Amino acid sequence: MELTIKRLQEYLKEKYTILKPEELKNHERYFWKLIEEIGELAEVIKKDKRMTGDNIKGTIEEEISDVLYYVVMVANTYDIDLETVFRIKEEFNKKRYGHNLKIDK
Ligand SMILES: [Mg+2]
Repeated sequence: MELTIKRLQEYLKEKYTILKPEELKNHERYFWKLIEEIGELAEVIKKDKRMTGDNIKGTIEEEISDVLYYVVMVANTYDIDLETVFRIKEEFNKKRYGHNLKIDK
């Protein structure tokens, strides 16, 4: 099954509704977690540590996944629909950078 941004947002919303409902409005907590994960990503990028087989621990793949997780969590705490805002921002960028690429094929 394809994993869309929408499904990822729904999944994490469901997960936190069950496990930590009080955290779903905690904007700052997830913002700081995001910054922490960006720091971890910087470290593994510096070491150029890539995933081999299923061994994800301590790799760029692990940390970029963590960054995505917390980007989604920050969006969820603000009830931001990431697909919608990405489309709006890309329309803005199209004019700014002068291209006419389409997101939908
Ligand atoms: Mg991490």
